[in-house]
Amino acid sequence: MDLKDLYREVILDHNKSPRLYGKLEPADSSADGHNPLCGDRLHISVRLDGDRVSDLRFEGKGCAISVASASMMCEAVKGKRRDDIAHLFHEIHTVLTQHDAPVPEDLGKLAALSGVREFPVRVKCASLCWHTLNAALERSAATVKTE
Ligand code: ZN
Repeated sequence: MDLKDLYREVILDHNKSPRLYGKLEPADSSADGHNPLCGDRLHISVRLDGDRVSDLRFEGKGCAISVASASMMCEAVKGKRRDDIAHLFHEIHTVLTQHDAPVPEDLGKLAALSGVREFPVRVKCASLCWHTLNAALERSAATVKTE
């Protein structure tokens, strides 16, 4: 299966049945994301255990790419440490924005998102969830510092 087929299949699947959809209550941190270019809106809530994201959920309304990307991201980062999440974010960002960048093998299923770079206007749809997660993690880091 080449990346284009994988892209289509994975996006359709995660859009139809999003994983980790909903809201954590209580959550340790949360953030809202909005992509005005497309109208995508996301809310991401996270539960933290030290520097690990022990659980997270997303909810919102948006295009198939924004929903599928959030669903895949939640699956990929659940249980991971902040460092590892930052590393994944960097890889995803490179794959989405640099047309000729090789797709790292450790991206796993997230590699399917590289198909988005064929459609530059949709890159923000795919990256919205990552920026929103970062905002939630930064907020929690700020909270920890002031305590
Ligand atoms: Zn969108």
